[in-house]
Amino acid sequence: MKRLQGLCASDGIAIGTVKIYQGSQPEIMLRRVQDVQRELALYQFAAEEAAAELERVYRQAIREVGKQAAEIFEAQLMLLQDASFGRFIQEKIVRERVNAAYAVYCAGEHFAAIFNAMPDELTRARRMDMKDISGRIISLLEQKDGAGAQPEAHIIVCREITPGAVMALRSTKVLAYITENGSYQSHAAILARSMGIPAVTGVDVSTFTDGMEVAVDGDGGCVYQEPDEDIRKELLERVEASRQREQARRTLIGTETVTLSGQKVALYANIGSREEVAAVREQDGEGIGLLRTEFLFLGRSRMPEEEEQYRTYQYIVEQMQGKPVVIRTLDIGGDKPAKYLPMEPEENPALGCRGIRTCLQHRALFMTQLRAILRAAAKGPVSVMFPMITSVEEVRQAKACLEAARQSLETEGIAHGRVLVGIMVETPAAVMLSRELAEVVDFFSIGTNDLTQYTLAADLQNTSVQVVYDTHHPAIMKMIEQVVAGARQAGIPVSICGELGADTTVTEALVHMGIHAFSVNPVKLLEIRERIRSIS
Ligand code: PEP
Ligand code: MG
Repeated sequence: MKRLQGLCASDGIAIGTVKIYQGSQPEIMLRRVQDVQRELALYQFAAEEAAAELERVYRQAIREVGKQAAEIFEAQLMLLQDASFGRFIQEKIVRERVNAAYAVYCAGEHFAAIFNAMPDELTRARRMDMKDISGRIISLLEQKDGAGAQPEAHIIVCREITPGAVMALRSTKVLAYITENGSYQSHAAILARSMGIPAVTGVDVSTFTDGMEVAVDGDGGCVYQEPDEDIRKELLERVEASRQREQARRTLIGTETVTLSGQKVALYANIGSREEVAAVREQDGEGIGLLRTEFLFLGRSRMPEEEEQYRTYQYIVEQMQGKPVVIRTLDIGGDKPAKYLPMEPEENPALGCRGIRTCLQHRALFMTQLRAILRAAAKGPVSVMFPMITSVEEVRQAKACLEAARQSLETEGIAHGRVLVGIMVETPAAVMLSRELAEVVDFFSIGTNDLTQYTLAADLQNTSVQVVYDTHHPAIMKMIEQVVAGARQAGIPVSICGELGADTTVTEALVHMGIHAFSVNPVKLLEIRERIRSIS
């Protein structure tokens, strides 16, 4: 047995066998590179390796399935060695200074599109060969085996996992995640928690192999390779104890979220998918304090249209049966990139074009979302919330877009409702301007995940600065106090929707500071209610 200490990304315990997750081609990230020669050399090496692999596969296929069927691999080899394929990749690397994997990905897509435009079906079908070839080279570039993992009932091990991949894997049976890079606040971790899947990050994943027996202790942030009987027994006992605690908390369903001294606090849920609304109802959430809408936009090739968005928002609002729903406008960028938005690659995406900045730059996309939100507001109490605000001017512009969306619906005679307007306070600038901002919005919601990252200058994706990324840092606590004071002057409520809101060690302090509402992962709702009910 070997114990590896990492960091908790999602609590809970799982025991099972490892599946090394290779990712998939659409997860290829675009990176700007300095060392173009290195990328060219990497490509050359991977292309030669891929050719050798294809030759092996071809010979093996002749033996196993016959010469005729095996010819497909011979044809692939010719495509791979075709001069125009290699030239496209080399030119892309040199001209655009992009990483080799991305250039190969683009070449695959480019030549696949050319084949796809051909009149006869046989030639069109070769588009899949192109994708196969580029996938093979990319796998080699990323030291993957290119097998296209199909994990099921396994503990997924990978260097890093994106929110898109967690979403993609949700239909398969994932027992737990072990990653090398990541953090508690990363969106992949937030998703894992909302799905109740344990996850540990900050672990050297090179020592894992497919099929290895492991035990994941999400609570303690550690992993046991080949766990012995004592550890298994201890972990299973903890699973049972936690199940019993959860069972006991169910008696709080239907009770008020109120302190012993009678201070009422609203208890809302954070959700990032349509399905989670069921958990909010089941765990007695008093509303949705943060609907992260990125799920509608990520992991797909086209943006969702107004009608699709409207139907999703409408469904959630109707499911909440008159309880409030706060819909946050799109916050892509950062660790949530969308493939179809023409965004320049950024050296530092967390400080780049994300949140309200993206929306104000892509007005058509923003207006479509605002129209869908206003239409859903005809079905129940809806608020709209803008992320990543840093100035009063941004709020003014966002509100002008909202008004334009309302007017367009009015003109077209389409039913819509009134919405309250709030902002995420998640940048130090918004904290410093909280008095001024409070004058122009109806509510604040403090996003402590980003606020901590920006205040402490510690990238929340970067495992090596997780010790600096201290959500309890006195600077963060002082900032929350300042935001509450700013809001109080204007008489608007303040909620907390970052992960700190689900941290029971600070619940009492936050309630005493004057936080009006907590918005937490649905699985945490009853735990927070229990904690608030114990505060005097
Ligand atoms: C936050 O930053 O605290 C927050 C709730 O927003 P997100 O995690 O979606 O960036
Ligand atoms: Mg945020």
